[in-house]
Amino acid sequence: MRSAAFRALVGFGGTLLALGSATLAVSTATSAVIRVAVRARQRKRLVPCKSCCDCSSSLTSSSSATSSSTPGKRRCCVCRGRRAVRWQPFAAPLAARWTLCPLCAGKGRQACFNCSGTGEVVGSDEEVAREKERKEAAAEAAAAETIDLR
Ligand SMILES: [Zn+2]
Ligand SMILES: [Zn+2]
Repeated sequence: MRSAAFRALVGFGGTLLALGSATLAVSTATSAVIRVAVRARQRKRLVPCKSCCDCSSSLTSSSSATSSSTPGKRRCCVCRGRRAVRWQPFAAPLAARWTLCPLCAGKGRQACFNCSGTGEVVGSDEEVAREKERKEAAAEAAAAETIDLR
């Protein structure tokens, strides 16, 4: 009698466990699908980050050359690309003292705060349309160039 009740309890628990894990698996799969769909939709709306892509012209020539190869990076706003900051612990210093920039760790560049270093942000409808036009114009120009070469 006792063993039958125990068996029934174990069976019930097993069913619950199976149901629970099945529900968990389905919900995990659903959330993964939703995540992929959201990411795919966002990818269509990605535009170059204005904060780090447009400002490259205002940087010095040497850093603008590196900025084109590393979108999402911009000149460090603490050391202004000098890689070190003047820091003096004494009130009446005898000599200027430089220390490694604490924000960029001496790299002179930091990840853009606007796009968190990716170089792209999800744009507004207007920005997405403008970016699409720009890409189409660039593709047309490239096509015209190849025709000219032939
Ligand atoms: Zn950026
Ligand atoms: Zn710095």
